[in-house]
Amino acid sequence: MHEFSVISSIVDLVKQEMEKRPVILVKEVKLEVGELTFLAHGALEFGFTALVEKEPKIANDALNIIPVQAEVKCKNCDYEGPMKVKDSESMHIGVPIFKCPKCEGQIEVIKGKECTVVNLRMELED
Ligand SMILES: [Zn+2]
Repeated sequence: MHEFSVISSIVDLVKQEMEKRPVILVKEVKLEVGELTFLAHGALEFGFTALVEKEPKIANDALNIIPVQAEVKCKNCDYEGPMKVKDSESMHIGVPIFKCPKCEGQIEVIKGKECTVVNLRMELED
């Protein structure tokens, strides 16, 4: 499962940060997850809980996922904003269209591909 390998590397990163300071408890791991990563948030949370179960210094519910909407920039006109989404009946989800919603020109993704820890809230020893 892709989500599990993604969240394992996030937990590794948190552990690396914990080695740098006297941590009592990691209270929050704020993770920005872009819409275009197609990662299932529920699976990320499930993986996180499973991974930190035996980590007394990481709170089980520390993961806080912030969804990031995709944004694109057109290489042809000056469009900048959300992508056009086509509803797919067979998949029951919106499928983003990789074309400019205004002129159908080539687009560049400027937001929505990230899966980044933006903040770590920790309780430290005095
Ligand atoms: Zn355009």
